[in-house]
Amino acid sequence: MAKTIEVTQSSLPDFEEYANEIFDLWDSKMITNMGIKHRSLELKLLDYLNVKNLTLFSNGHLALEAIIAAFDLHGEVITTPYTFVSTTHAITRNGLTPVFCDINLEDFTMDVDCLEKLITKQTCAIIPVHVYGNVCNVEKIDQIAKKHNIKVIYDAAHSFGVTYKGKGIGSFGDASMFSFHATKVFNTIEGGAVAFKDSELQKTLNGLKNFGITGTETVEYIGGNAKMNEFQAAMGICNLRHIDVNILKRKEIFERYIHNLKDVKGIILPIIQEGVTSNYSYFPVIFKEFTKNRDEIFELLKLNNINSRKYFYPLTSDFSCYKYDSERTPNAKFISERVLTLPLYPSLTMLDVDRICNIILNVGENY
Ligand SMILES: *Cc1c(COP(=O)(O)O)cnc(C)c1O
Repeated sequence: MAKTIEVTQSSLPDFEEYANEIFDLWDSKMITNMGIKHRSLELKLLDYLNVKNLTLFSNGHLALEAIIAAFDLHGEVITTPYTFVSTTHAITRNGLTPVFCDINLEDFTMDVDCLEKLITKQTCAIIPVHVYGNVCNVEKIDQIAKKHNIKVIYDAAHSFGVTYKGKGIGSFGDASMFSFHATKVFNTIEGGAVAFKDSELQKTLNGLKNFGITGTETVEYIGGNAKMNEFQAAMGICNLRHIDVNILKRKEIFERYIHNLKDVKGIILPIIQEGVTSNYSYFPVIFKEFTKNRDEIFELLKLNNINSRKYFYPLTSDFSCYKYDSERTPNAKFISERVLTLPLYPSLTMLDVDRICNIILNVGENY
């Protein structure tokens, strides 16, 4: 039996590289509380992500919770159900009410044609998701938000390194959250960041991730603890050295999938949008009118020791803790029931990509 192929694999530097990076921590004995690695990574990311302001967090979820809290919002927040539960949890855990907007069928981001109808007097913010690294319709969202005077916070967890029209993806909206979780394109083991427009927010965000402490004898916010430690930051510094090579490897794998599967009838392959430099974070395939349905393909791949993922299924709105009516977001429901993300990570070999594709090709019908 062929070896198991996982859907993803964490990118790690060579052991020696990481060991060298953390070496001086044994001298300083300062292993957390915004030390030298933390400061260094923050500066490098400001540059790499091409954003004006940025602050690091222990993970992406707490980064999102913190930026929502920083804006001191009340009422309803419009988001999409086609995302990781974290997006909606961050809204709800801030005492806000999520309102689900449908997605479009082209890139699976928020359907801006449905957005404005959902805005009420209670709406205080929009939290769209750059899902799979696909860029939301930032122009239209910006226009609608300005008209109604509401905040825009992007869940950019999938979008590390993505640019749109030459600008870093984190420079759109009022703020963007990035996740540096082990399974993401760039990782700090666990970790995350908020990029934001208004420099005034720096103090609030730093307070929110460090108990509201603003000086040795002053506490100005009721903050929690969401600090990135020095070992996480050191991992980030190492991984950042290899990010461009890793994204290039992802691109080659992505293109191999496209090349192999482009003539298969009844499936929809991911697209790279115009004006976007992608990070090739995922390879979602929609089994629309294929000879077998999504669940059958999932099982067939599993029989061949290949782990794919129904990402995103179920919809956030269908989980027992939310239980919204998913009929209200028919596109999200449709995609969620047919999507399968195929294995994609820098060290996946072309031989493995071909093996995965052949399983699909063998049951499919070609043009
Ligand atoms: C990963 C992810 C998050 C949460 O990030 P963590 O770093 O795991 O806390 C939030 N939203 C989306 C869309 C994600 O994929």
